[in-house]
Amino acid sequence: MAKRPKSNPGGLGSKLSPGEIERLCMRNLLDLPGERIFFKDLESRFLVVSRGLLEDQLPGWSSADVIGKTDFDIFSEPHAVAAFEDEQRIIRTGEPIVGKIERETFRNRPDVWVSTTKFPLRDDEGRIIGSFGISRDVTAQMVAEQALTYQSLHDTVTGLVNRVALRDRLSQSLALLERQPGQVALLFIDLDNFKTINDSFGHETGDKVLVEVARRLTSVARRADTVARLGGDEFVMLCTALRADDDPRLLGERVVRTVAKPFIEGGLDLSITASVGIVLTDDPIADPGQLFQDADIAMYRAKDTGKNCFQIFSPSQRARAVASHVLERELREALDASQLFLLYQPLFSIEDRSLRGVEALVRWNHPTRGIVLPLEFISLAEERGLITRIDSYVLDEACRQLSVWLREGGWSSEFTVAVNISGRQLVDPGFAAYVAKTLALHGLEPSRLCLEITETTLNGEAGDVETTLAALSGQGVRLAIDDYGTGYSTLAHLHRLRVDILKIDRSFIEQIGRTERDSEIIAAVTAMSHALGMSVVGEGIATSEQLDELASLDCDQVQGFLFAHPLPAEGIAEFRRGATPRPASP
Ligand code: C2E
Ligand code: MG
Ligand code: MG
Repeated sequence: MAKRPKSNPGGLGSKLSPGEIERLCMRNLLDLPGERIFFKDLESRFLVVSRGLLEDQLPGWSSADVIGKTDFDIFSEPHAVAAFEDEQRIIRTGEPIVGKIERETFRNRPDVWVSTTKFPLRDDEGRIIGSFGISRDVTAQMVAEQALTYQSLHDTVTGLVNRVALRDRLSQSLALLERQPGQVALLFIDLDNFKTINDSFGHETGDKVLVEVARRLTSVARRADTVARLGGDEFVMLCTALRADDDPRLLGERVVRTVAKPFIEGGLDLSITASVGIVLTDDPIADPGQLFQDADIAMYRAKDTGKNCFQIFSPSQRARAVASHVLERELREALDASQLFLLYQPLFSIEDRSLRGVEALVRWNHPTRGIVLPLEFISLAEERGLITRIDSYVLDEACRQLSVWLREGGWSSEFTVAVNISGRQLVDPGFAAYVAKTLALHGLEPSRLCLEITETTLNGEAGDVETTLAALSGQGVRLAIDDYGTGYSTLAHLHRLRVDILKIDRSFIEQIGRTERDSEIIAAVTAMSHALGMSVVGEGIATSEQLDELASLDCDQVQGFLFAHPLPAEGIAEFRRGATPRPASP
């Protein structure tokens, strides 16, 4: 059993007087290494200091050197003043200060952080005669904490502040409007096609671009402004205290221009552009979350209007954004609930008016709005990454229907189904294989399928599109250029892309009979296409006058309301071999 001490009034306590014991205890306390203990008089002059205080703060000084001195003899002003004020308050109020984290500033050595506790010093009658305290060096903890705080408020790639810090500064800037009326501008800056740089040159190069953009944005900002990176290729600039006559358009222009400056690095052209959305407010109680959202909406408007530009937020943009948000959600549901279906519009040979094929056109059977046309949802689907699912559905359904028709028989040997393909698909390296798989699944010859690509898709597209088109054409799939005349491709270029069919855009057909020039253009295009082995389709034939003119211009096929509107699959049967098209009822 452990030995238990016995209480004994005749121990050490009987050999030394209480005063001596107190003195001994005090001595031990004051000799503790690392503990800075001090006692001061009413004027904050040192009465007693511990060894730890001398060693840590006043190396080379003796206790006697310190007695009678004040903090002003040891520290530089900021700390000496603060400590003096604290002690005077303690003396006045009798209230202690516990665990105060403060920075000790010296004249000729680095500052340190300490945690200090101070109490009033009282005489035997309880009267306050000074103060005393104890403090401990917490510099190491503070440095670690500050590093953590820095990390939690900054972006590691660019060194800019992050979303958390930005939110804080936005709230501060808004609050400041209360005292200093003016405007706060929030600029949402999203890089255009940054993914292409990352994908083609790797993430390290992508990071270089981000760092350069950060540097450029910082150079545009004023000192009081904040430039932040939210992540990915999204930056934000917060401009405070704009004067009433400061023009936000100049700011937007400057940001767009600065980002777009050429950027060549290691022989690579890394130039990039940005789309910028700007929101302005002079309201100190504006909701920061709403401002972020509005700037984001304006940025999307800038993307919509062709990128490399800025847009200033207006409430009508919000209504549009809400509408397209609703549409997006409904479209996702539509895909899951099979609300999409196909209509087929026939294409006829001009020469003998026989049916040559059909074009599959998607429709959306919306639960409350009824039938919605593709123009209302295709570009949204492209923007929000839903187009792949739509086009896959259309391709699969069109192939399924074609195989049903072919099993029924009665079609010309050249009967094809055309499917519209979004430009997104063509940059997908797996697309050609996906088409081959779908054709095989439905037991179809590749030449029964024609893929329509709008001409504008080809503008400025890189090698990926050419590779996909070559692979498709290599399999025997036919390729058509849709809406020809709305882009800038040369016929020689289309020939090189192994395009089989040119579909002349309806806008040209509509001009027939109105201007001589359009007929001349159609004649020249048709002759050139034939020379290069491509056939020509006239789109949107609505009058017999247009039909006659196209026949005289040597066009090969026609499609349009004059013959048939887009029809459900059953409606196509009447145009089978032998049946001559008659003008359709509207
Ligand atoms: P497009 O490929 O040029 O299709 C022809 C469009 O012109 C169809 O409109 C058709 O109904 C319309 N049209 C045909 N003949 C006439 C006519 O005589 N007069 C007039 N005014 N219009 C005529 P729709 O079905 O609304 O499709 C519009 C566009 O949406 C299509 O243009 C195509 O670019 C796109 N689209 C349609 N279905 C799909 C699809 O499944 N996938 C993709 N990615 N795009 C599609
Ligand atoms: Mg088409
Ligand atoms: Mg077209």
